[in-house]
Amino acid sequence: MRCCYLSEKEKCFFCRKEISEDLVRCPYCNVAAHKPELQRWILRHGTCPRCGRELKPYAK
Ligand SMILES: [Zn+2]
Ligand SMILES: [Zn+2]
Repeated sequence: MRCCYLSEKEKCFFCRKEISEDLVRCPYCNVAAHKPELQRWILRHGTCPRCGRELKPYAK
């Protein structure tokens, strides 16, 4: 039996590419994204792009 979960890469919510580094998640809905893209979004909107809950920008 082979588990596929660990090797399966998450796709970024914004650019839809597989995330190989800088993966971040919304703590509420678990959506995955590249950190720089989500950071930019949060700085502009202050919320998660998927669930709309309030998010804080990541510390540098
Ligand atoms: Zn991305
Ligand atoms: Zn969310």
